[in-house]
Amino acid sequence: FNVPEPKNEPVNSYAPGTPERASLQAALKAARAKEVDVPMYIGSEEVRTGNKKPLSPPHDHQHILGYFHEGDASHVEQAINAALGAKEAWECMEWEQRAAVFLKAADLIAGPYRDKMNAATMLGQSKNPFQAEIDSACEIVDFLRFNVKYMTNIYEEQPPISGNGVWNRTEQRPLEGFVFALTPFNFTAIAGNLPTAPAMMGNTVVWKPAYSQIYAANVLMEVFREAGVPDGVINLIYVDGPVTGEVIFKHPEFAGIHFTGSTAVFQTIWKSIGENIETYKSYPRIVGETGGKDFVIAHKSADPKQVATALLRGAFEFQGQKCSAVSRAYMPANIWEDVKKYLLEDLKTVKMGGPEDFTNFFNAVIDEKAFDKISKYIDNAKEAPEVELIAGGNYDKSKGYFIEPTVFVTQDPMYTTMCEEIFGPVLTIYVYHEEQFETALELVDKTSPYGLTGAIFSHDRYAAELATKKLRNAAGNFYINDKPTGAVVGQQPFGGARKSGTNDKAGAMINLLRWVSPRTIKETF
Ligand code: GLU
Repeated sequence: FNVPEPKNEPVNSYAPGTPERASLQAALKAARAKEVDVPMYIGSEEVRTGNKKPLSPPHDHQHILGYFHEGDASHVEQAINAALGAKEAWECMEWEQRAAVFLKAADLIAGPYRDKMNAATMLGQSKNPFQAEIDSACEIVDFLRFNVKYMTNIYEEQPPISGNGVWNRTEQRPLEGFVFALTPFNFTAIAGNLPTAPAMMGNTVVWKPAYSQIYAANVLMEVFREAGVPDGVINLIYVDGPVTGEVIFKHPEFAGIHFTGSTAVFQTIWKSIGENIETYKSYPRIVGETGGKDFVIAHKSADPKQVATALLRGAFEFQGQKCSAVSRAYMPANIWEDVKKYLLEDLKTVKMGGPEDFTNFFNAVIDEKAFDKISKYIDNAKEAPEVELIAGGNYDKSKGYFIEPTVFVTQDPMYTTMCEEIFGPVLTIYVYHEEQFETALELVDKTSPYGLTGAIFSHDRYAAELATKKLRNAAGNFYINDKPTGAVVGQQPFGGARKSGTNDKAGAMINLLRWVSPRTIKETF
């Protein structure tokens, strides 16, 4: 069976004067003008509970984009029943038929739905056009197309050895029961990948997005339905987290969770699963990508301009709300003044504001809770004697949740903002003596409990190699002379270990293998 060889979806620039720009601007205008009424999708039903909650852009929180209908525990039950009801037909379908559905979804997003998806991500999550494009157009399309390719590899795996009178076979069954997908606000692509990867492998899914992701999730669901995902295969619900957990993790048919979100929530989930372990038919698959405290370390041989650009982009694109965002950096004293000069100069050239004005590079953080948390870290650091503010530090939530890209320099490499995940536009820098590179590497390794992404900048091959070895457990995605954000599906499979997750790389065969339970069949003649 020949699936198309996947290629990464090309990224549109939306440069002034291009037809793509005009068409995206029209989609944004249309979305602003029309309030949506977003139902849950359970089985064949669009469920409107009447318990309506507003959806607003983070950069303009008084504007109403529409409303979603919140559900309760009974809807979680209904979604599980719909998933279980749809299971047999879906799992017994030829896998090529399932592949076709997701290839069609990819084509719909790459083509007719591209503007609508990007407009939803720009308005719902406050992403600039480029950040939206690489997420809700390119990355989700890549996830779907590459996963279909990996799926082929799994189903066409080399058969086990057989001989005269004996025929051995392996059958890739989906998991028995339903899979739960719990998705974060920060990437529409992740919201799309978490339910579709298990579904591709023949599972049926209950999907609960973060509330701040519902606006774009609704468009994704529209695509899945148009692509032909059958009723009940992916059920989309909006129910309070703990209420959902109570029902899901006590259910005997709970077969696995595909999660991206905070470390604290993941640990709570893992404990609930442990407490209910005797209830389940099988041991559930637990697949999660969680927090990070991602680093850049420069060697004395690094190019200061290149380092400054990586810090700006790595720390502040999408307001630092990427699990991969740089939030701590270790700079050798010999190049630090130059890095600082370039970084501060570059920061002056970028504007902050709503993403509908395409000249704004920085937009708002996701909601008031995030705004309050991040601004508290900034206030505390401003007061700390060992910390110096060198850029930003101001914030304002009157119209949108805006926080300036903020840079601190600390004399204490263990200061709070060097260790704790902030998930916002705050970068803390520690300057080390350039002859103390090895000690600095040790600091990088032991400062944080996470292990998601990190980067070394060096023109000295020995130093790059030393960092790669010493930091082998400090990052599941490690970059040499590049920023540690922006992993591309099929090129840099993404995920980390330590407290950053189970490292079942998103958009890779290892991930899809978690959603099957192989059966070995031996037949004698
Ligand atoms: N894959 C994204 C990147 O490489 C980060 C994903 C996340 O924030 O969870 O930047």
